[in-house]
Amino acid sequence: MFIDSHCHIDFPELAERMPAVLAKMAENRVSHALCVSVDLPDFPRVLALAEQHPHIYASVGVHPDYEDTPEPSVEQLVELARHPKILAIGETGLDYYRLQGDLEWQRERFRTHIKASRIARKPLIIHTRSASEDTLRIMAEEGAGPAAGGAGGVMHCFTESQAVADAALDMGFYISFSGIVTFKSAKELQEVCKRVPLERMLIETDSPYLAPVPYRGKMNEPGYVCHVAEFIATLRDVPLPQIAETTSNNFRRLFNVLQ
Ligand SMILES: [Zn+2]
Ligand SMILES: [Zn+2]
Repeated sequence: MFIDSHCHIDFPELAERMPAVLAKMAENRVSHALCVSVDLPDFPRVLALAEQHPHIYASVGVHPDYEDTPEPSVEQLVELARHPKILAIGETGLDYYRLQGDLEWQRERFRTHIKASRIARKPLIIHTRSASEDTLRIMAEEGAGPAAGGAGGVMHCFTESQAVADAALDMGFYISFSGIVTFKSAKELQEVCKRVPLERMLIETDSPYLAPVPYRGKMNEPGYVCHVAEFIATLRDVPLPQIAETTSNNFRRLFNVLQ
């Protein structure tokens, strides 16, 4: 069985065909999925999905790409994270690719999420794009990792260098690979994927975006996470069941979900 550690099945294009999305998960032996929150106005629909379906979990947070949206407070995030189906704080982080200019508000928002994660004792789901240096610096300054008293977390949809992976691993974080690792153009990322310790690896779809080969360019969905796992099994020359079992156990350990 596989677990999709990061998807957005509350987005309309997937939500409107939920029965088919859930059927594809079952067909492809994807036992659970974590539906990741991107802003507060849409949080109720994310939580509703988790409440409706025993095998769907959720997170609470405000994405760094969402500029004109209500800013969360530490207290608000901690309060919303109390719900037993809310496994994590995020997605949060920094994105200097999509938005430019003075992004101090992004860094402040990221600090707010890390503070909430430490208080709520729920791990962080971190998004970083063209901003790895500041991301790692703020993670260290705010004590995001377990060694610094934080709840740890995952670097989601990882596309960074080996050095960034090593720094995140050193802080006690997990690394999650999406369909991007299956792309022909992702040679450098594939090298990183070979070297991340299996016991610190998660897999995800980030659906509806970034469908893995052989569905590249089509709409992605949690059921396709098995193709990410298959690719990694071939890349690392380990049996597929080992990738499935290890990444699922990692998910349960990181997010404190009972076996
Ligand atoms: Zn993201
Ligand atoms: Zn996402």
